Amino acid sequence: MTSHVIPFLAAPGYAHIQVWVEALQKAMPDERILAFDAMSEEAKATCKVAIVANPNPDQLKQLPQLQWVHSVWAGVERLVADLGNTELKIVRLIDPQLASTMAEAVLTWALYLHREIPAYARQQAQELWQPRTYTRAQQRTVSLLGLGALGEAAAQSLLRAGFKVCGWSRSEKSVPDIECFDGENELPAMLAKTNILVCLLPLTPDTTGLINARVLAQLPQGASVINFARGAVINDEDLHAALDNGHISHAVLDVFETEPLPVSEWHWQHPHVSVLPHCAAPTDRVTASLIVAENIRRYRNSGELPQTVDIVRGY
Ligand code: NAP
Repeated sequence: MTSHVIPFLAAPGYAHIQVWVEALQKAMPDERILAFDAMSEEAKATCKVAIVANPNPDQLKQLPQLQWVHSVWAGVERLVADLGNTELKIVRLIDPQLASTMAEAVLTWALYLHREIPAYARQQAQELWQPRTYTRAQQRTVSLLGLGALGEAAAQSLLRAGFKVCGWSRSEKSVPDIECFDGENELPAMLAKTNILVCLLPLTPDTTGLINARVLAQLPQGASVINFARGAVINDEDLHAALDNGHISHAVLDVFETEPLPVSEWHWQHPHVSVLPHCAAPTDRVTASLIVAENIRRYRNSGELPQTVDIVRGY
């Protein structure tokens, strides 16, 4: 079947455009994948689908027949903000490899907190030889804010490691062995029993600033927080205060409102913060390209789009 060019559009200055074009081309030998800048005017005039990584919306406007964009990232808050008032449909990346990479990151850092590595690092700095009282994983509750593609995979790996696991979502859910909570009303009950709170929520109008002083205060004294979602889900000042006063014992932060995190930011030097450079779950170019390829193949054959982002919900 003959196909139009499929452009790959990324943020200005993005360093990996060519490697993405090559990976996508390899996954879709029957299609012609081109970086936006390499497209002819004729190709721009006819293309219906584009593959995107934080694209410049002005470039998307130069594709008059465009119907949908397939993101190679899982989080689409920027696309929703840029394209929410257009007719364009947004498809985000749902990749089992991404979910398992995220599950591995959640387990790694949950174990880091569970086995009190921050406290042992402080003891080492004081040349202090002092075993701490051991707590079994079964005595710790790890709670996930967000039980979607990534949250549920993380929950399963935490269960396998022996933790008690809770999960919170917008809609009601039932998952074996996971204590499920939904909606604002049920959040306090989950927070009250949480030792390690893991954020895997999408950034939407409802989740912006959701982890604020009130929510943090509902966690037990000494609980810790892992944010692998988006920086703006946490009210940064409220978290800073809760870390300073010891209510929150440690925060593992992979995502920030401004990235890269400016050197002037307090998180870098805070003794109870682990700063990570947005590395919890990078997209795997090979597996992601195969998923995009399969979605485009189905669209070419049947006209059917994969599940699209709900613009009103924001995810
Ligand atoms: P997803 O499948 O869309 O799942 C989102 C989950 O959050 C769902 O369970 C959803 O509830 C819940 N949720 C959304 N709004 C809510 C609200 N207002 N109240 C309660 N629950 C709410 O998303 P995903 O694929 O798991 O990805 C989650 C996020 O991870 C992405 O949006 C992205 O920002 C982030 N991420 C980070 C990295 C990294 O390296 N740090 C990598 C990839 C992704 P329902 O189930 O009821 O819909």
